Amino acid sequence: THDRDGEIWLDGQWLPWREAKVHVLTHTLHYGGGVFEGLRAYYGQQGTAIFRLQEHTDRLFRSAHIMGMRIPYDKDTLGRIQCEAVFRNRLDSAYIRPMCFYGAEGMGLRADNLKVHVMVAAWEWGAYLGSEALEQGIRVRTSSFTRNHVNSLMCKAKANGNYVNSMLALQEALDCGYDEALLLDHEGYAAEGSGENLFIVRGGKLYTPDLTSVLEGITRDTVMTIARELGIEVIEKRITRDEVYVADEAFFTGTAAEITPIRELDGRTIGSGRRGPVTERLQSLYFDYVHGRRTDHPEWLTPVTPE
Ligand code: PMP
Repeated sequence: THDRDGEIWLDGQWLPWREAKVHVLTHTLHYGGGVFEGLRAYYGQQGTAIFRLQEHTDRLFRSAHIMGMRIPYDKDTLGRIQCEAVFRNRLDSAYIRPMCFYGAEGMGLRADNLKVHVMVAAWEWGAYLGSEALEQGIRVRTSSFTRNHVNSLMCKAKANGNYVNSMLALQEALDCGYDEALLLDHEGYAAEGSGENLFIVRGGKLYTPDLTSVLEGITRDTVMTIARELGIEVIEKRITRDEVYVADEAFFTGTAAEITPIRELDGRTIGSGRRGPVTERLQSLYFDYVHGRRTDHPEWLTPVTPE
């Protein structure tokens, strides 16, 4: 991804893509103390627009607050830069990655002279798990790695270091021939995927793990909102792995993964083993919203070009 044309924003400047570099002694590279976001822009009725920019920006600032990091820009500036990253790189649809990280001004955990650097990049990124996954669903394995304990790492923060746990789990799942991992919390209840929130459907109702040990997913919130507006009851509660085995339907949600059906967990077929009707309905509505084909949540879309 580093060797291409385009521009990346770093600390107030637009740099040629290949020149947006950091020093090897970058503090966050060593210890993982940074915060980031992942957003998508879609091409739709009104041109290209970022989906739920405000909520992602709010979460970035909440993540920084949790980590005790001061972002040297305000929300409006970073929002504007993210829009600019999409149109400067001439993207119709895009994945957008802002990140705040500590620089190479000091080494050692005690370094107190660290500067907070901010970067924003945007590039084209198709379906995270492949377009076939969106239709056919994926095969998931319960991870042998426990989700970050709530008092070891801060799960409300989308912090770089949190993803070591995700990488271990995903690598294990892929090595075992599965598409994604399901991580359990330290008490053994289903938490989330390596980068997705979990939902199950049973008896026409939608269930999702409460937010105790999972990221406050923005796609999760979108799905809960859409479902409730359809009159589907949504319940946040602790979910066991065997509740997933016997669910009528299950799916993962995430900005990258969008709404991906889960067709199998640990070798047990879920429901019909195909994308279920509730999943399909929510998925199709989700794609309508992100592409601006529905107009009842105008606040969810920010056009990347000002009027
Ligand atoms: N959980 C984790 C651990 C994630 O990394 C992500 C992706 N940001 C999600 C859930 C889904 O969050 P969102 O819908 O806001 O992308």
